[in-house]
Order: sequence, then structure tokens, then C-alpha cells
Amino acid sequence: MKPAHAIGALAAVALLASPIALTAQAPSAPTSTAQAQNDPAFAPESFRATVAFLADDLLEGRDTGSRGHEIAARYVASRFEALGLKPGGDGGSWYQRITFQQTDPGTTPGSIAITGPGGATQRWTHGTDVLVGLSPNEPALDISAPLVFVGYGIENKRLGIDDYAGLDVRGKIVVTLRGYPKGLPSEEAAHAAATKAQAAQAHGAIGMVGVGTILSMKTRPWAQSVHFADEPSFAWVGADGKAFDEAPGIRITATVNEPAALALFEGAPRTLAAIRTLADKPGGRPKGFALTTRIRIQSDSSTKRVTSPNVVAILPGSDPALKAEYVVLSAHLDHIGITPARPGDTPDTDRINNGALDNAAGIATMLEVARAAASAPVAPRRSLIFLASTAEEKGLLGADYYARHPSVPISAIVGNVDLDMPLLLYRFTDVTAFGADHSTLGPIVAGAVAPMGIGLSPDPMPAETIFVRSDHYMFVKQGVPAVFLATGFANGGEKQWGAFLGGAYHHPGDDMNQEIDWDSGARFAEANYRIMRAMADADTPPRWYAKDFFGDSFAPKAAKAPRP
Ligand SMILES: [Zn+2]
Repeated sequence: MKPAHAIGALAAVALLASPIALTAQAPSAPTSTAQAQNDPAFAPESFRATVAFLADDLLEGRDTGSRGHEIAARYVASRFEALGLKPGGDGGSWYQRITFQQTDPGTTPGSIAITGPGGATQRWTHGTDVLVGLSPNEPALDISAPLVFVGYGIENKRLGIDDYAGLDVRGKIVVTLRGYPKGLPSEEAAHAAATKAQAAQAHGAIGMVGVGTILSMKTRPWAQSVHFADEPSFAWVGADGKAFDEAPGIRITATVNEPAALALFEGAPRTLAAIRTLADKPGGRPKGFALTTRIRIQSDSSTKRVTSPNVVAILPGSDPALKAEYVVLSAHLDHIGITPARPGDTPDTDRINNGALDNAAGIATMLEVARAAASAPVAPRRSLIFLASTAEEKGLLGADYYARHPSVPISAIVGNVDLDMPLLLYRFTDVTAFGADHSTLGPIVAGAVAPMGIGLSPDPMPAETIFVRSDHYMFVKQGVPAVFLATGFANGGEKQWGAFLGGAYHHPGDDMNQEIDWDSGARFAEANYRIMRAMADADTPPRWYAKDFFGDSFAPKAAKAPRP
């Protein structure tokens, strides 16, 4: 369906406004109108206006479940409605309201006690040399079990790794190395590493304790992990009333620093130092074995529930057959709220995390694309879904919930582009599409932005495994080809990315005082409009490449494209 009223309104305005121009400039008027309709204008002012509203102090950082986020959600819904889109939320509304459980540390701090082969017990409290996880569905947890070292703890047939071979971990707590073996392709490995708890559960383990490798201790020093020790954890609540957990059989997780790690390996057939040396070599995969120590883990937590909505709109496609297929453009609307007061703060210390770039800029991009698509003379052939997700900052939870409870059958969703934190502090000349190597979305994106003189660059920071760290990964896990699109490293981008990630990122400084290049915002919106059109208008939908790890893992039966 073409949004006829939008076209009609534009035509009516043009007629009313230009009775004189019709006689004075008759030859040029039809041409300029046609141009305006064929090339929907992307204006920096319009982009800036959206970011300015969402990043206003009044919205208090749009934290999941907060009043500020609710106001932001009403604003986005209102914009969708003004464009003539159709609601894609619950019961014909714009909102998909989700219940989240927040799990906080309880009054008694968590603790770990390790008993060695000689019977001596050492004990640590959470936040010192051990970090004990919070169990969302067991508020007062106290378990003791024997321990088994399982190497990296990865089990993945496609990668040819089974760290559990020959080990009996039933009813036991497994000890894993953090991260993944050196030399594996980073996105595939990151996915395998992110599913360690499921692997442990599949083998009957009841808990998981992580110890650092030489590499992980360098890239994530212990002090950095301890800094986040008191953060609550979040989960969405399912129809069964329980906090969703992909591996509920793993009742507790913990990570440990040096003294506790050494205690775990007391009396072991191989030393931790030897294991780490092997793990530091390319392809090094230390084999597991039963440990001679036992562990007792206690964790005390309290829970509360909040609700927060995804905001969802649909633009029906114009092609009678292809309109049954949907392309999703997503961006998260939530941010991290207000930083708690710290000693030394003055009354005028800015503690509001406005999230101008993270991710008001992504929402502004999405709204510009929605406006252009809804006002185009011919609507995109496939239908478009616009998803302003919540709880991204809590662990991609709103997108995960949506991908598991979509507005239309998941099989009808043929592709997703996610927008998160486009860095608009320089005139970008390239974009990166994280995940572009796995599906035809790579060439689709490259072809769509080329006419603008914008290049598609490979992932400039593969070690960061961004492919598995943003909302689009939740669509990937449901079998949908997806990419996360960001501004690239060319033309000064690398320096700006470095400065932002080490500075304003997740700080009150990510606000309207930054030198945001609004013209780049408009260009980024146009680039994404072109990408959406390319995905929606092509005869064939985006497809996973044949024999691709993610395509084969999550969409084994879907039609595949030959890898170029
Ligand atoms: Zn963020």
C-alpha cells in the first residue's frame, strides 16, 4: 500500500502555495516537484531536531523503565503516526510492552570458598578476588560441588571444537578459560564463546567459573571487571512469569582473579601457568580434566520488576506479492539514565547521560528513513518494520524479545539493519557493516551507498567482536540475515572513534555540546534509506551465503546464495 495521504498532502500544499508561481515559473515547477519526490530530501535540521529532543536533560538519559524513556517512546510513536505508518505493537498499538526483572546484589555479599585436596578451605568475598554472579530465579543460592576444568568450555560442531569430550561434568561446576582459542575467525568464535553456558548445561553442569588467560587479563584487567561488580543484571520476563535465561541449568556463574584461580588448580595434573602458556599459542586449546578441589558458592540477590516498551511501526509494501516479506530497520531508544552521585560531586556536576550519539542519532536516522520511505512516490516493494528497541544497554533485551515475539512471523522477516551510535563527529566517507561477510547484505550495502561516494570497509576492529554485541545479533540468532551499520574509520574516523570510546561514550559528555556534524547525520540517513530500498525492492531478498557459519547454524533450511 502506498501512503496516499502523504503524497496527497504534499501535492495539496504545493498547489495552495504556488498559484502565482504556476504562471510565473510554469516551466520549472513540475520538474522540481518531480525531483523532490524521486529524491526525498534529507535535511540536517530535521536530523538535529530529533536528536535535540531525545538528548534533552528533561528525558534524563532514557533509562529502561524510566519516565524519560516512556516520554521518548511516546515521541517516536507520535512521529510514526504523523507519517501515516501502521502500528506494529501489541493489540494494534505502537508499543510492545515488556516486563523486565532487575536483579540486584542482596544484603549479604556473594562469596566463594575453595577446599583443597588436603581439606584446607580458603574464602573470598565478592568484589575482592572473586566476582559472583546474581541468580535471577534463585534469590538465596548456596551450592557446593566438585570442579572440572573444561579448557575454553566451547562445544561447536561447525568449528570442530568439543572441549567436553571425555569429561563427566554432570552435577559439577565447570572451570573455563575466558575468551576463545587464538586464530579462530573472531565472529564465529565470539558466538561460540557467548554460548558456553548452554554447552555446560547440555552436559549437565550446574555452575561455571571463569579464569583469565594471558590475553584476557591484558585486554580486561581485573580492576576493570571489579568496577562493575555492583551493577544489577536484567532479563525479560516470559509468559511463564520467569526471568528468561538461556541456560537455567547453570544456576550460578563466577569469575576469579589470581589467588582464587590458583586455589582451584591446587593438586591438578597440570599447572595453571602451563595451561595459560599453551592457550596463548595460536590454535592452543588446553584439554580439560577433573580438578581435585571443591567449591562452595553463595549468592544473595533481590529482584524487582519494571516494564518498558519497544516502539514498532510498519510501512506496508507496494508489491502485491513481496509485501508479505518484511525488512527491519532497528535502533535502540534507551540509554543508561543518570549516573549516581559520587563523593566530590558539586551541585552542578552533570550526571545525566544524554546519549546524543548513543543512540538518539540512530533513532533520528531511522525516523528520517521512515519519513523518506513513507513519502516516496512509490512505496518500497517489501514491507518495512521500524523498531525502536528498549533495554539494549541492559543486554540487547528489547531486540531479543522482539525477535522472539515479532509483529509478523519471523520467517517473513528477510533482513535487518541495526543502527547503533553512528559517530557523526566528522565527515564520514565510508561505512562499516558488521556482519557483511555472512550474507548478500554486504554487496547490497556496498551497492546502495556507492552512488553517494561512500565506501564499504571491512570491520576495522575484529577483536571487539561487535557482530555479536549489538541488537542485530538477536535477529541473526533467529535466522535473519542482519548487519550493524556504522560510520567508518576513513577520513579521520579512526581518531574520532578512539577519542569517543575513551571519552564521551556512556558518559554525560555524550550530549548536544559535542561538535556533531549534522550534515553527516543527513547523509547517514540517506545512505540508510538507499540500503532499505535496495533490500526492499530487489527481486530476491537478502540471503545467507552457502556454508556460512551463522546461516547454517540459525537458518539451515533457508535458501542460500553462492559466496562470491
Ligand atoms: Zn550504549
